[in-house]
This record gives sequence, C-alpha cells and structure tokens, in this order.
Amino acid sequence: MRVGIGYDLHPLVEGRPLVLGGVKVPFGRGLRGHSDADVLTHAVIDALLGAAALGTIGQRFPDTEPRWKDVSSLVLLDETMLEIEAAGWRVGNVDAVITAEAPRLQPHLGEIARTLAPHLKVTPERVGVKASSPEGVGALGRGEGIAAQAVALLEGGA
Ligand code: MG
Repeated sequence: MRVGIGYDLHPLVEGRPLVLGGVKVPFGRGLRGHSDADVLTHAVIDALLGAAALGTIGQRFPDTEPRWKDVSSLVLLDETMLEIEAAGWRVGNVDAVITAEAPRLQPHLGEIARTLAPHLKVTPERVGVKASSPEGVGALGRGEGIAAQAVALLEGGA
C-alpha cells in the first residue's frame, strides 16, 4: 500500500463556473485556472500521483499546454488513472477536505463523491469529501479563493 497527499488552491473570480469534483455548484463566482480550475479534483490527482511517486499535476498537465485549456479536470483525472493503473496500482480510498467560506457545500458533497468515484474506479463508499469553513480567517475567509486537500491510498503496485 502507498499513501499520497495533495493540496491545491485557486482564486475565486467573476465570470467562471464553480466546479468541484466535476460537479457544477451554483454560485456567483468560479475558480480561475488554465483548466476548469477544479481545485478538489486537482488535489485528488496530486494525491494519486504522490502515492505512486509519478510526479505532480504541474509536471503532467502544464498550464502552457493548449490541450488542457478549459478542459474538465475529470479528463486529467482519467489520464492520471491510466498511469496509476499502468503502474499496477488501484485506489483503496480517497479522502478530501474543501475549505471554502462560501458557498455552503454540504448539500453537494454526496453528488461530488458519486461523480468522482467512477473516475477513480471505486464505489462512492471509498470516496470521502468534506467541507470546512475558514470561519472568516485569512484570504480563504474573505472568499478570495477555495482550497482543497486530499489523501489517496493505493493498493497493489508493480
Ligand atoms: Mg490546480
């Protein structure tokens, strides 16, 4: 077994949809980034890559690459899973925390887990997604961005 950790943060801006774990969450602003800036999926990808010691999301999907412009991060997750599986690993479980002052994410967490699970080739029971509030503290507390942390357990291996 191997464990990996991932962390990501993107700024919140006007005129972008808010996508978390592949789910569009109704909100007046969205995350800025080269892809769809899905901060949760990015943290999960880095946790998977970290567990398999396959580098980082920045190395695998550079923001200089036109192919990844505005792409769904679920596509990047699928690409990542191909590499994970090619190295002989399967996902044991994934757990993640989204830190956002707003919007309230609790009503969306189940759908997010159910959306991510098939991309991770596991049942939703193996995908934990939680939301935490920064309670008004710091840049995240002022709603300047949203952050996500994830851990992934991989089983198998070459
Ligand atoms: Mg990112």
